[in-house]
Amino acid sequence: MNSRLQGTGTSIFAEMSALAAATGAINLGQGFPDTDGPDSIAEAAVRAIRDGRGNQYPPGRGVPELRLAVSDHQKRFYGLSCDPDTEVLITAGATEAIAATTLALLEPGDEVITFEPFYDSYAACIAMAGAVRVPLMLRAPAFRPDLTALRAAITPRTRLLLLNSPHNPTGMVLNREELAAIAELAVERDLLVVTDEVYEHLALDAEHLPLASFPGMRERTVSISSAGKTFSFTGWKIGWVTAPPEHVTAVLTAKQYLTFAGGGPFQFAVAEALALPDDYYTTLQDDHRRRRDLLCDGLSATGFDVFRPEGTYFVTTDVARLGVVDGMAFCRELAQRRGVVGIPNQAFYDDPDTGRTQVRFAFCKQASVLEEAVARLRA
Ligand code: PMP
Ligand code: GLN
Repeated sequence: MNSRLQGTGTSIFAEMSALAAATGAINLGQGFPDTDGPDSIAEAAVRAIRDGRGNQYPPGRGVPELRLAVSDHQKRFYGLSCDPDTEVLITAGATEAIAATTLALLEPGDEVITFEPFYDSYAACIAMAGAVRVPLMLRAPAFRPDLTALRAAITPRTRLLLLNSPHNPTGMVLNREELAAIAELAVERDLLVVTDEVYEHLALDAEHLPLASFPGMRERTVSISSAGKTFSFTGWKIGWVTAPPEHVTAVLTAKQYLTFAGGGPFQFAVAEALALPDDYYTTLQDDHRRRRDLLCDGLSATGFDVFRPEGTYFVTTDVARLGVVDGMAFCRELAQRRGVVGIPNQAFYDDPDTGRTQVRFAFCKQASVLEEAVARLRA
């Protein structure tokens, strides 16, 4: 293994899902729903396969129906216009979009500012590109970014800001003032910004505002999202990039040698999903608000310090008050002894000590499952 990947082990999600499978524990670790998305959308995928749509290589940019649906979605929810032919790219999940974007835009030695704690694939992709990750710490309990620290972190080597809101794992959602300040800074320092918005429809207590909609940002923002969280089909791995044509072309240039294309029939189904009426989206949020409250209240009552998330389907907790000194050991033991799996947030920090006693739980599960998990934890 090359030097860029030295120190990168098995992803914490793979490790914890394997532990859940081995122990039969309730898996509140890796973020996937325990109920599939709408039947009508599953049927659309079946229909596409049977009708021979997408069974052979789709175009590298993605099927026209889905590119149009993504463009319509950006207009419908955010008033953003993007040309489906030149400003939309379909990817194998947001994961490939992140990889292709970093590989396409970064030179070795470039600096990339990301929030810390960070989604694990950012660290790996930035490393694979030979670039340097510069963390901007989000601190408990609110996990809001320190914009003075952001300004100070920018150097002549800074090439990208890689932002994530709603933020995994903390549940922080960037507000209008923060986004406006980040936009001003990006324009002033002439930076490109990559935004990971996969939880855009899981902003529960706050409005999700895309950075690309702020003054001066459309031309310098590569926006990434995917169907996994919004439509509860995380295994389909259909994601997308919206950006100005030259950035889309750059990302496509890398992407064509990663997968070229993927998920043909699912692309047609996701095109239908994006056009679902507003009540699909509001019901998704209402459901997750209820599940969040159920899990957060249950964890609080059990003695966890709970950082109630504004968005995503994760809650970060601190287990120090329970007398725990290491979240990793705690999670491993919890699976064995109590039959519940969580994710130790230390995997999302450069220095594990910073998040040593933080543990993340996913609430994209049926209420009865969350109730059972809480009952087990309380025991
Ligand atoms: N970004 C973040 C912040 C995530 O939590 C995830 C996990 N789904 C991804 C990207 C990857 O998305 P996808 O499953 O579409 O590849
Ligand atoms: N995004 C999911 C999470 O944060 C994990 C996806 C993965 O396993 N790569 O739990």
